[in-house]
Amino acid sequence: MSTNGQTNGHDATSGPPATVGEWAPKTDFNYEVTDDGVHWEHNARVYEWDGDEGEVGPEHPELEAALFGPPEERGGHGINFAAIAEIKVEQVGVTKVDPVRSFDTAGLHPAMLKNVQLAGYRVPTPIQMWCIPAILQGHDLIAIAQTGSGKTAAYLIPILSRLMGKAKQLAAPRPTAQDFREGSARPVTAEPLVVIVCPARELAVQIFNEARKFCYRSMLRPCVVYGGGPLRDQIAQLQRGCDVLIASPGRLVDFMERPGVLSLRRVKYMVIDEADEMLDDGWRDGFTKIMSGGEQDEGDVKYMMFSATFPAAARQLAKEYLTDNHVRLQVGRIGSTHSNIKQDVIFVARELKQDAVFDMLTTMPPQRTIIFVNSKHAADQLDDFLFNKNLPCTSMHGDRTQREREDAMRSFRAGTTPILITTGVTARGIDVRNVMHVINYDLPSMEHGGIQEYIHRIGRTGRIGYEGRATSFYNERDEGIAPLLTMTLLETKQEVPDFLSGFVPEGGAQAPLVFDDDSDDEGNANGTSNDASASGWGTDAPQGGHQPISEAW
Ligand code: ADP
Ligand code: MG
Repeated sequence: MSTNGQTNGHDATSGPPATVGEWAPKTDFNYEVTDDGVHWEHNARVYEWDGDEGEVGPEHPELEAALFGPPEERGGHGINFAAIAEIKVEQVGVTKVDPVRSFDTAGLHPAMLKNVQLAGYRVPTPIQMWCIPAILQGHDLIAIAQTGSGKTAAYLIPILSRLMGKAKQLAAPRPTAQDFREGSARPVTAEPLVVIVCPARELAVQIFNEARKFCYRSMLRPCVVYGGGPLRDQIAQLQRGCDVLIASPGRLVDFMERPGVLSLRRVKYMVIDEADEMLDDGWRDGFTKIMSGGEQDEGDVKYMMFSATFPAAARQLAKEYLTDNHVRLQVGRIGSTHSNIKQDVIFVARELKQDAVFDMLTTMPPQRTIIFVNSKHAADQLDDFLFNKNLPCTSMHGDRTQREREDAMRSFRAGTTPILITTGVTARGIDVRNVMHVINYDLPSMEHGGIQEYIHRIGRTGRIGYEGRATSFYNERDEGIAPLLTMTLLETKQEVPDFLSGFVPEGGAQAPLVFDDDSDDEGNANGTSNDASASGWGTDAPQGGHQPISEAW
């Protein structure tokens, strides 16, 4: 069968659905439904209220159910959540904050506290315990915390909570719902108070969906813009007013350059999510434009950056934009939560990979699985292969139209196609409940992301205290990543297979692990070198008993 990007790699089939093992039947891509029921994620419903009678708008039970989902699927966390709560948080740098242990005592706006409860969050995760007070106190912030540790809410909750009481006075005027009903609504230029930038479109949508929850019953109106979606629609959304803008960088710059669409002059909070990716050379120009895009008064904008990984070079660049007394947080250790993820590396010759992945999928109980490959072509091919073997799979990569990407994500989230084949880029930061297995069909190469990419990928499972499993196919072509992969296995207390034993450093697991760019001269640069607990990112935790933290985490 030939691969055809237009059909998501799938040919139509006839007759009763064929199945394999206990897997659900595969589903064909249904264009009629998606074309008719035009559903773009950026058009998802948001709470709209003009703030006439105080700070908190009326309840809207039907929208509330749509925003927060069925009660049984709200919040919740894995059996290892308690382990998450024991994770150490390192504060580096001059400014320190005291953590909050519960949402109730965090000083949140009452409407926000309600939303947190509706989301089903009972206890803050460690990154939230520190970020909430840091942001409420008005600090700039760099936060590094493992994948799946709740970073999105760590910035959304305090930022939106701070703005809830002030929305009326800070927000730009916009047409009211009444104006729309009467047809007298005049389009406005969007003047967001919060801008959240992230590198991947699917991630932007996911953050938008979180923002829709936390803006509930407030005046704050969230919008999302990203490449690939129809411009006209996205502009129409902005013209209804936008207080919280989530954006992928290309589209954001595009809108900033169009007259009358978007102005950053009111921005109070600028958040860069997956910041290390954004600080990559490829984004440099766009990034500078975004960071200096407003005409705000100096010091009026709070900048914050979040990521699971943060190489030294990116940190250096980040500091150019942050105030000298920004708060720096680093949460957790590789061994603590990521022992949630059982990692296997198995030797599979290149020509046997397809069969190996098929065997693996059909000998394990069906479970939500993400398969990572290194090229768009490989994604198409593997999707074809598995689909023809009657597995319920779908795929996603950068050459697909945005519509196809959204459909793939939606059917993966819904469990209609529980197997998702994807390239790494499109899956950054993606949070899907119950992803039980991540398969690195291709291990990342050192040129494309290396060990950090490995960590982001396996972090799609084992989220928020759940257990997960990651299997990686290895062969002689992967020798480049072998040393760091072996160190990662050792650090996360996983078994090292025989064929990697040659890469175990002398002294084995007991030897202190030093990653390439562990060294960091920030201690002197920010004048905190006298403080033993603040001498940089790669050093021991203040309390001791804590090995050096690898760059990758
Ligand atoms: P990260 O950005 O650190 O990878 P996310 O922000 O995507 O992680 O959060 C992972 C998941 O955890 C999301 O589904 C989110 O709704 C959930 N979550 C976040 N904070 C909490 C909490 N305090 N209690 C329960 N679930 C939470
Ligand atoms: Mg995230």
